[in-house]
Amino acid sequence: MAEKITMTSDGVLHVPDEPIIPFIEGDGTGVDIWPAAKLVLDAAARKHGKNIAWKEVLAGEKAFNETGNWLPEETISDFREYLIGIKGPLTTPIGGGFRSLNVALRQILDLYVCLRPVRWFQGVPSPVLHPGKVDMVIFRENTEDVYAGYEFEEGSASAKKLLEFLRDEFGWNIRSDSGIGVKPISESGSKRLVRAAIEYALKNDRRGVTLVHKGNIMKYTEGAFMNWGYEVVRDEFADRAVAWDDCGGKPGDRLLVKDAIADITLQQVLTRPDEFDVIATMNLNGDYLSDALAAQVGGIGIAPGGNINYVTGHGIFEATHGTAPKYAGQDKVNPGSVILSGVMMFEHLGWHSAAEDIVRALEKTIVDKIVTYDFARLMSDATEVKCSEFAAAIVDRI
Ligand code: NAP
Repeated sequence: MAEKITMTSDGVLHVPDEPIIPFIEGDGTGVDIWPAAKLVLDAAARKHGKNIAWKEVLAGEKAFNETGNWLPEETISDFREYLIGIKGPLTTPIGGGFRSLNVALRQILDLYVCLRPVRWFQGVPSPVLHPGKVDMVIFRENTEDVYAGYEFEEGSASAKKLLEFLRDEFGWNIRSDSGIGVKPISESGSKRLVRAAIEYALKNDRRGVTLVHKGNIMKYTEGAFMNWGYEVVRDEFADRAVAWDDCGGKPGDRLLVKDAIADITLQQVLTRPDEFDVIATMNLNGDYLSDALAAQVGGIGIAPGGNINYVTGHGIFEATHGTAPKYAGQDKVNPGSVILSGVMMFEHLGWHSAAEDIVRALEKTIVDKIVTYDFARLMSDATEVKCSEFAAAIVDRI
């Protein structure tokens, strides 16, 4: 019987064998990649005696065409009620009152962690010599930073008013033809993100956590993030984790937490990727890092993500790329991003064997050189298949 996923008061997810899971098909290529991903997820679940009762919820163009609303209230309440969901890419409505539907969903449900694991799968074409050395998990703060949406257009009455205030109150002489944005980084927001990263690292036997920041320049936002991160280590995890400065880089059997400046990090994740493991960082740094790292292991066609609130238990797993409208409905693009987001969702639900089966089957399919156009153009003698055929080949190997 189909049942809801629930969370106990001590924060443990209770997952029935037939959970009800809401999904958003997605705009553009969502019509191609979602059915392909569903085929794979259902096959792996069934193999392990599970069955997913999928519940379609609407957002984006499909929602607008059917209800006149880009993000219907019912969709939000379903995600609230059923805790865990999955989505394809969504168009950003022009003049629809939303900065972005993805950002709106993250903010409404307070999904404060954007989780992006980045690892290489055998056979995937890569522009670097040793993509196998990339195995990182990015915890990107999802609700604040310059992405919070507090900005005024150059020349607007609000921008002028703010500039005058800053000049009169603080003596800040900012050029009068400036647009203005605000970068809020809070102690509570930073600490819950770092806490989630450390807990994940401990639970998954990872080697270390790096706090990535630009605190040498932005001392009271990015620098404070680093300081608050180390406070979490010392105040909450002293028996299981240790800051670099407190152990001289020798953590013993505890988890090592260190920090790195964002610009050099972007260089070193390329030149010395094996020195990084779990990364905890703010919204903008995390956005850049996720895509830069994805490039090393096959690109955004295969990069998964999850947006999670570990306190309330809410999570929405999603394709990290956009709607790629020029390919929509052609049964062409790589469904890997949604499939691997489903793998992340399975792992989050504790369905580890089903998750591993999908990864093994996906790897085998790529090693057999059965790939979609994006990989085929980077490989010699590959068999280029459609989106749905790629999914069917994975199912065969499950
Ligand atoms: P995009 O949709 O991500 O597409 C950019 C390029 O990435 C595509 O032209 C294609 O490259 C490649 N690509 C995307 N999906 C792929 C897949 N499944 N398999 C293989 N390659 C893939 O970015 P965009 O064109 O800038 O954005 C289009 C719309 O998506 C916008 O409305 C944007 O707001 C929205 N968006 C949504 C999300 C989300 O829902 N999470 C994220 C980003 C953007 P080639 O041309 O080289 O083949």
